[in-house]
Amino acid sequence: MKGFEYLQAELDDMKKAGTFRKLVPLQTAQGSKVTIDGREVIQLSSNNYLGLTSHPRLRQAAIDASRKFGAGTGSVRTIAGTLTMHEQLEKKLATFKRTEASLVFQSGFTTNQGVLSAILSAEDVVISDELNHASIIDGIRLTKAGRRVYKHVDMKSLETALKETGNYRTRLIVTDGVFSMDGNIAPLPEIVDLAEKYDALIMVDDAHASGVLGKNGRGTVNHFGLDGRVHIQVGTLSKGIGVLGGYVASTRTLIDYLIHKGRPFLFSTSHPPGVTMACMEAIDVLLEEPGLIERLWENTKFFKKGLITLGYNTGMSETPITPVFVGDEALAHGFSDKLMEYGVFAQGIAFPTVAKGSARVRTIVTAQHSKQELQQALDAFEKAGKDLGIIG
Ligand code: PMP
Repeated sequence: MKGFEYLQAELDDMKKAGTFRKLVPLQTAQGSKVTIDGREVIQLSSNNYLGLTSHPRLRQAAIDASRKFGAGTGSVRTIAGTLTMHEQLEKKLATFKRTEASLVFQSGFTTNQGVLSAILSAEDVVISDELNHASIIDGIRLTKAGRRVYKHVDMKSLETALKETGNYRTRLIVTDGVFSMDGNIAPLPEIVDLAEKYDALIMVDDAHASGVLGKNGRGTVNHFGLDGRVHIQVGTLSKGIGVLGGYVASTRTLIDYLIHKGRPFLFSTSHPPGVTMACMEAIDVLLEEPGLIERLWENTKFFKKGLITLGYNTGMSETPITPVFVGDEALAHGFSDKLMEYGVFAQGIAFPTVAKGSARVRTIVTAQHSKQELQQALDAFEKAGKDLGIIG
């Protein structure tokens, strides 16, 4: 069919530049090892921090709920698609996050879009870290609010933005709790101090901190002892929690407002019973099996230290997300391909996901990896890096 030649031309350019990527289908369940193209390889690319995607308790919860309540819900939440279990999950999440209330969206992505687009208008301004996730950027694009972007985790730059925006009704500072491509933690105590000094609100996206940081994985706000001082906490149910969805935890007022104005919440069908009950089970697992988070951090320290000892540049990383910087886009993809040859699945990440010139292979260890698997992965990093001249 004719009509998409201009798109094909762009794809052809990407092929020439070595940046065209094929999807990588897994032939097995997500885990520390997965089968790709018939070969078992070590998985270092998932967000399955605690291995909950295939935890027996979550599987069972999903099966039981699907048997009893069916595969889908048949409606959006605000018409006929709210099950009591949706509200139970929201209560559980609010208690877990130590907030008054919470609301579940279809994904972390739509949560950010839905919250930002609902609560900000032309009288308001949003002040956003330059490395915030795409869903925050897109959410901001959907509002008529003023926009200021501050330099990554740079408190001087944030304070300048606050000083220059005193005439707006509401100033909302937005930051990732853990930055998804660099693995560093936002300086929340300083952000909270500035917000309180300038009477601004704060929204934290804890997609990569839920199940990872704080008591039982409550996230960055709890990690820094800032419960009650951050106005909006967004999280995902798709990473540490191991299932699918997003949520916002905040005051009753904000949640009631979003029930009426959060567009993805209003116009997109609610979560299936299996997903909802598996998410609920995941919160119980976090509360009852703290050893998982301990193992995640042990593995993180072991693997990060190993990469640094090999001579790799892992930037600002301080969490299970460890980028291995190479700079050049084609080299990042070539590095990823070479690692795959040596039995390790670690994706190359390049523009537009990260800035031009800062391409990297991003690794994420999980609680499921054994020391032996991680050592095997480090051996592969050593061989691949030497083959390509990335390390000496
Ligand atoms: N926020 C951040 C910081 C993320 O990294 C992601 C996941 N890519 C999301 C939001 C979106 O979450 P989800 O995958 O649940 O849509």
